[in-house]
Amino acid sequence: MVIKGAVFDFGGVIMSYGAIKDLFIDLAHQLGVEPKVFFEKRKEVWDLFAEDKRLMCGQISAEEFEEGDFLKAINTVFGKNHTEPLRWLGKLTAPGFIQYNEIMLTFIKTLRENGVKTGLLTNNFFIDKERKLESTPVDRALFDAVVESRLEGIEKPDQKIYELCHSRVVAAAPEIERSEVIFFDDMETNCEAANEFGWRAIHVGKDPKEAILQAIELIRHENDLHLEIET
Ligand SMILES: [Mg+2]
Repeated sequence: MVIKGAVFDFGGVIMSYGAIKDLFIDLAHQLGVEPKVFFEKRKEVWDLFAEDKRLMCGQISAEEFEEGDFLKAINTVFGKNHTEPLRWLGKLTAPGFIQYNEIMLTFIKTLRENGVKTGLLTNNFFIDKERKLESTPVDRALFDAVVESRLEGIEKPDQKIYELCHSRVVAAAPEIERSEVIFFDDMETNCEAANEFGWRAIHVGKDPKEAILQAIELIRHENDLHLEIET
């Protein structure tokens, strides 16, 4: 079985989360708590939204979320009484702040040059109420298939979104089987769901190079591709 397709998550794979700590320190300052306290208790806030699909499924924008339920939740957990929204969700991908895993972008280009079909599969959200700002700033021309949760109303790890993405990859190259697609994601649950779907998931940890090396190993073993990539 050769590898004919490669699908990539955005946050934590193409985009680095290296700057997220600074973003949370900024949020702690806006909130008026010590960063240490914020880091200790933030899970309590996140847990409140664990089952809430509205943001990633495009029903509400980040601005609406920050003004509504997020403000309420963060006030409750930290014992505050803010009336103005604390802005943070749009900052990570803002021009000048966003950091890319450049090696991942190079890898995507290299795969394409070697005839591998590429896909982008991201759980993302609308930033502004007008739904005009870009929350996934990456050149779409790098991909044969693009699936964004905010536009589809479904999110990973729902099997339906893998099906949708695979159908778009297949539209680019009809002969591709599920087992011929590798998938990169930084969330274990999304990787497990992808494996269940029949793709071959590669988990991306703190160092994206490790995932790339793992993929190269698999591809070299199974394909007759010559991947020259500086790792
Ligand atoms: Mg991710």
